[in-house]
Amino acid sequence: MDIRIGYGWDSHAFKPGVPLRIGGLSIDHPEGLAGHSDGDVLLHAITDALLGAVSAGDIGSFFPPGDPRWKDADSAIFLDLAKEEIVNAGYRIVNLDTTLVLNAPKIGPISGEMRERVAELLGIMPANVGIKAKTPEGLDANHVAQAHAVVLLERIEEPGEIDTMSAVMQSQRELEDVVRDLVSQVHGVPVKAPFDTDDIT
Ligand code: MG
Repeated sequence: MDIRIGYGWDSHAFKPGVPLRIGGLSIDHPEGLAGHSDGDVLLHAITDALLGAVSAGDIGSFFPPGDPRWKDADSAIFLDLAKEEIVNAGYRIVNLDTTLVLNAPKIGPISGEMRERVAELLGIMPANVGIKAKTPEGLDANHVAQAHAVVLLERIEEPGEIDTMSAVMQSQRELEDVVRDLVSQVHGVPVKAPFDTDDIT
């Protein structure tokens, strides 16, 4: 399979006296998002989208909320693990799209900076990151921030490239056999291969 899709969602309640972190940015606001970690609702949704794209479970299975190691943790740590999981599975990010749902603060004025920061954390171009925001009209969710994220992955190595490499290696081995046979015919003694190339993997 060459491409895979992943989807993530998260929500956190606002709480007075807590620093607000969204999309890896510290945002000046009277309230922050309550959570065991830094409560970065957007990075949590993106982490779940990445893990989901390679069927690697979810953020809670890697970082249980009760674990004291993740108390007030920077959510970029969660994102790093998800990045590792997709690379280990043989994939890279094509693009990412997200939607935040919250009443305040207004995301529009900082969406460009947030896009740059998320792209930096993911190691991709800002042009491949979408940051959108909506207010929770009719949802009775004025004191909550929600985040949705969808990500598209592609295989790092195309199967065609692997086939081509195998064909080149096979033809090189065949050529070595032919040269060895010719040399042994000329000298009348069999020439031993310096090493068995099949053993070098
Ligand atoms: Mg969360």
